[in-house]
Amino acid sequence: MGILAPRMNRFKPSPSQIASARVRELQAEGRTIIKLTAGEPDFATPDHAKQAVIDLMDRNEIWYAPINGTQQMREAAQLKFKRDHGLHYDLDQITASAGTKQILFNALMATVGPGDEAIIPAPHWASYPDMVQLAGGTPVIVSCGQNNQFKMRPEQLEEAITEKTKWLIFCSPSNPTGATYSPAEMRALADVLLKHPHVHILTDDVYEHLIYDGREFSTFAQVEPKLYDRTITCNGISKAYSMTGWRLGFAGGPKEIIDAMAKLQSQSASGVSAVAQAAGIAAITGPQEIVREHTANLQRRRDLMFEKLSAADGLSCDLPEGAMYIFCCCAGAIGKRAPDGRVIENDTDFALYLLDSVGVAVVQGVAYGLSPYFRASFVAPEEDIIKGGDLIQEACAALT
Ligand code: PLP
Repeated sequence: MGILAPRMNRFKPSPSQIASARVRELQAEGRTIIKLTAGEPDFATPDHAKQAVIDLMDRNEIWYAPINGTQQMREAAQLKFKRDHGLHYDLDQITASAGTKQILFNALMATVGPGDEAIIPAPHWASYPDMVQLAGGTPVIVSCGQNNQFKMRPEQLEEAITEKTKWLIFCSPSNPTGATYSPAEMRALADVLLKHPHVHILTDDVYEHLIYDGREFSTFAQVEPKLYDRTITCNGISKAYSMTGWRLGFAGGPKEIIDAMAKLQSQSASGVSAVAQAAGIAAITGPQEIVREHTANLQRRRDLMFEKLSAADGLSCDLPEGAMYIFCCCAGAIGKRAPDGRVIENDTDFALYLLDSVGVAVVQGVAYGLSPYFRASFVAPEEDIIKGGDLIQEACAALT
């Protein structure tokens, strides 16, 4: 009998962590690597958020925080849901965790068990299926192709729903594709969900503010108020305010599930650090202009990377509508031979080829449930995007 529990075989470590490990190895060998793998914006934490933490320390108010978040934290989330989406949640319908990731984890662990299914449109954030499996459930992956901008069509949703379906896990703007559903597209999915009252919606809105070309963000409970009672609206400060390291996420939803999530947290991490909550409250309730500035800056970098990737032989991509990534098709490179003789059989080979031959790190599409693609993050300094883009073009041109 081994020391590890059987549940440890039900999920994989995060693929971006595996890619980062390989990058570290090459760097240790002295190679310069251009990293187009970042999953976090690179702006400084807003000054008023830093100041809120200094004030908290001056008041020496750093104690165990309530399991579901301080009252001020839940009020800040309440204000945000109302201000940005017109949604009202009572304070006892709101909880806070160490990141949106923990919110999603708690929600799935609190509700999913053997026999339960969760529908996940692919390409998807790598963690969703693993979290469902860890909880004992079955991920039902719905493949959404580039021909529909990687978005799920209503008929695909209808087909995936069974009597075992517990959740639709929904993310717009999406990691890894940037696909952003319009209110009309969400409406069409909502019409399907209305026919199946046993299906709940776990909506991951973490990329809400990273949305381009003047598009408007909407969330499910806002688009269809009849879904409010079976939707958990999840969000966090990581991407909106470039505050990944603070670790704060929050959710509004049905009290029964929110209570269960807090109960789970009471026997694991306990309440989120008081420091993170103070910073998060200031970010959420403070001036929001900074968010628009970040988005405008990222939009310029998106355009630059799109121009570079679109010009590479054998690659094809669409301009992403949101998030911070281009999900690029590398079908034109598959089956080709690299100068060192290796044949590119799949997107993992292609990502490794880019890393080894020209020192550019991207993440292979298979990690997100769709091949042959790769994810290139445009959160990188502009000079890295230009240099990295030129090197990718060079590597593609060298394939025969
Ligand atoms: N959801 C998606 C789709 C993400 O891409 C990420 C981070 O990369 C998260 C959630 C985690 O966010 P947080 O930092 O708030 O835990």
